[in-house]
Amino acid sequence: MQNTFDIQPILDRVLSGERLTGDAAATLLASDDFVRIGLAADAIRKRHHPENVVTYIIDRNINYTNICNVVCTFCAFYRRPGGKDTYVLTMDEICRKIDETIALGGTGVLMQGGLHPDLDLEWYEELLSTLHARYPKFQLHCFSPPEIHNLHLITGLDYATILQRLKTAGLNSLPGGGGEILDDEVRRRVSTKCTSQEWLDVMRAAHTVGLRTTATLMSGIGDTVQHRINHLQKLRDLQDETGGFTAFINWTFQRENTALGRRIKEELTGIDYLKMLAVARLFLDNFDNFQSSWVTQDLRVGQIALRFGANDMGSVMIEENVVSSAGTTHRADEKTLRHLISTAGFRPQQRDILYNYINRDEAAQFDARDSAKLEELSVAFAD
Ligand code: SF4
Repeated sequence: MQNTFDIQPILDRVLSGERLTGDAAATLLASDDFVRIGLAADAIRKRHHPENVVTYIIDRNINYTNICNVVCTFCAFYRRPGGKDTYVLTMDEICRKIDETIALGGTGVLMQGGLHPDLDLEWYEELLSTLHARYPKFQLHCFSPPEIHNLHLITGLDYATILQRLKTAGLNSLPGGGGEILDDEVRRRVSTKCTSQEWLDVMRAAHTVGLRTTATLMSGIGDTVQHRINHLQKLRDLQDETGGFTAFINWTFQRENTALGRRIKEELTGIDYLKMLAVARLFLDNFDNFQSSWVTQDLRVGQIALRFGANDMGSVMIEENVVSSAGTTHRADEKTLRHLISTAGFRPQQRDILYNYINRDEAAQFDARDSAKLEELSVAFAD
């Protein structure tokens, strides 16, 4: 049955500058009138980014280990300690991947992995300081809150101490992975990793020591509209407090090869994704940047997302192992992303991890495009 109640009064209030309440956001998420929600989100996007630019980044997702000591039923990537097919990348392997990324015009790396039970803080410090010494301008965007929480369990140190030491060793910023849905009623059902409060506490500590971070939301894991609103409310409150989030990225659960995927009957659709993105743009009025997750939604939906509140096309990424383990195989090179941005009516602009513009010359962009035809050039895990 269609939900056709009139949402225009809510949208008018947001457009006049009023803060969206949780109840009003829930009404929007429950509505089928997604085009009007998208139009409002597009208008708010324009206020944050009047220059008509849509950004993208060239980077690489390095998953330094697939060994993980917790279980997430939505994950097809992890391997249990001592299991088959486990790995921890060597420094040489990581450096080779970074060399390839730089050759393709890349400016940074998103490095994260499973929750390894034995790698201690010194291992991570050594990794970062070696990479920072070898590639001083290359940005290291690494270790999501569950990994920091895991280090806290291993070392007994508090989050701020761990993060300060990692920052001193060369860490530039933190990815917002592991957020999923910040409501423990949902998290407890699908994962044994850190709680919502622990995820938020890691982010607060990161912002306190001067590290910027992103924030994520993954819907479609048994969450309700109210769970999603609770998640957004927690992000908005923390952003009011610290201002440390650079961007918000949402996507929908990718089910292939996962235990949860075999149990969940109905997968969320492109409309669910776009509506969630648009409502997030309206609710998170203190976030500047919203990424399109074309990687999980495909390129066409990813392009439409630019008119549903997104101002960033995410990543031309040279390697991705996590959502591809869960069956997602959408691919694009730099030329394709720039074309999609242009034909949606925007000027494409390469950026770095902190959303600063990168100005490579035209020829270098075409070089990157040609290199990016390599079969290996895969797609980005959202963020
Ligand atoms: S999502 Fe991360 S924490 Fe969860 S099982 Fe996979 S690798 Fe481990």
